[in-house]
Amino acid sequence: MATILLVDDIEDNRKLLEFDLEDDGHKVLEADSGPAALELLKTEKPDMILLDVNMPGMSGLELLDILKKDKKYQSIPVIMVTANDMDEEITAALDKGANDYVIKSSSHLVLAARMRTSLRLKKSQDDLRRANKYLEILATTDGLTALYNRRHFFELSKKELSKARRYSRPLVVAMIDIDHFKKINDENGHDGGDKVLIEMAKRMRSCFRESDIVGRIGGEEFAVCMPDTDIDSAMLPLERVLKAVSGEVFSLSRVHRERVVNVTISIGFSQLIEEDTELTKAVRRADAAMYQAKNNGRNRIVEYSG
Ligand SMILES: [Mg+2]
Repeated sequence: MATILLVDDIEDNRKLLEFDLEDDGHKVLEADSGPAALELLKTEKPDMILLDVNMPGMSGLELLDILKKDKKYQSIPVIMVTANDMDEEITAALDKGANDYVIKSSSHLVLAARMRTSLRLKKSQDDLRRANKYLEILATTDGLTALYNRRHFFELSKKELSKARRYSRPLVVAMIDIDHFKKINDENGHDGGDKVLIEMAKRMRSCFRESDIVGRIGGEEFAVCMPDTDIDSAMLPLERVLKAVSGEVFSLSRVHRERVVNVTISIGFSQLIEEDTELTKAVRRADAAMYQAKNNGRNRIVEYSG
C-alpha cells in the first residue's frame, strides 16, 4: 500500500510496529538512528516516516528539523512517536512541520487512522504538484509541436540576451519559415499541415544543442535563439536543419493512402550587436534576412546584411 520508514532506536519498538504495519499491507523500512535514516533516504523514497522523539545522539526533533529544511524530503509526511504526551515535545514537533503525533501506548487503530489521514493529504498534495507541473507545460509550450510557444520563447531568449550583453558573449537569432506552407495545407488538408509542423519541429530540435531555445512563434514560423554562438558557428546547425528538412520527404500516411510531401524552409539569421538593447531588434533583422531568403528563391540560409 505505502512504504513507511520507521525510525526508532529500540529494536523491539520497531518490530512491534513493523508487524502491525505489514499486516495492514504496508512495506516497512527501518532505521535505528537519525543518521541511519538520512543514509537510507538517499536511496529510498518512503511515503511516510514514523519518527521516535527520544533517541540517543540525534533526537527525533533534530532529524525532523533536517528533513523539513531539505527540499528533497520536506514533502514526506512525518508522524512523531512519543513516549508520553508532554506538551512541549508535541508542540515543538508540530511547529517544526510534523504532520501528527501518536503516543507509544495508543492502540494500533489510532496510529493506522492517523497514518491514513496523512497519506491522504500527501496524495492530494502530490496530485496538486503534478497538476501545476502540467499547467506550467501548457503555459510554456506549443500544444501541437511541443516546442516553446511564442511568449516563452521570447521570455527565455530575453534572459539569454541580457546574459550575452553582460558578459560580451555572442548570440545568434534565426527565423525559420516553411516554404509555401499554404499550398501544403491546401493540398493535404489541415491534418496534413499539422503533421508537417510536428515532423518539422522534431527534425529541427535534433539539429540544435540543449542550450539553444527553439520556439514556434507563428503558424509555420519558428525561431531559434543560440547563446554563445557567433555567425560562423551558427552556420553548421542551420545548414543541418536545412538539409534535415529538404533531404527527406515528409510522410503524411493516412489509413488508405500513402502520401509524401517535399518540404523546404527559408532561414534568416543575425548576430547580436552592440545596439541590441532589446531582443526584438535582433529578431527583426533575422526576419528581414528570412524574407531575403524567400526572395532569393527559398530553401536557403541568408545572413542579415544591413
Ligand atoms: Mg527511543
